[in-house]
Amino acid sequence: MKKKAEKYAVGDSITMMCSGCDDEKPHTIETVTKLGKISKAICDSCEGVSTFNRGVKTSVAVGKGKAASPYDRNRKYRKGQAMTHSTFGHGEVTAVVEAQKIDVLFGDKTRRLIHAQD
Ligand SMILES: [Zn+2]
Repeated sequence: MKKKAEKYAVGDSITMMCSGCDDEKPHTIETVTKLGKISKAICDSCEGVSTFNRGVKTSVAVGKGKAASPYDRNRKYRKGQAMTHSTFGHGEVTAVVEAQKIDVLFGDKTRRLIHAQD
């Protein structure tokens, strides 16, 4: 299998989901790996910091942006959406595992939560 060569440089701007803003926002790349993969990016709007390992987001620190909506098991979440959890704090949806299960990154820990419950 041939890998797509996607290289980034420090200072590049990319648009991606920001869990602080709960929207797609431009981010400035702060650090990259030797292979040109993003390892840290900062949201231009809220200054939230996201870190990555091998292209996978591994932690997220909330900037000065507005607080995310509280976790609601009845809500249908999508990847990249933010929430605040009464126990775990601020989180970001990293994957929709099944129709009613999501993985959410709280700080540097991923937890599996349910969603889209009727
Ligand atoms: Zn933001």
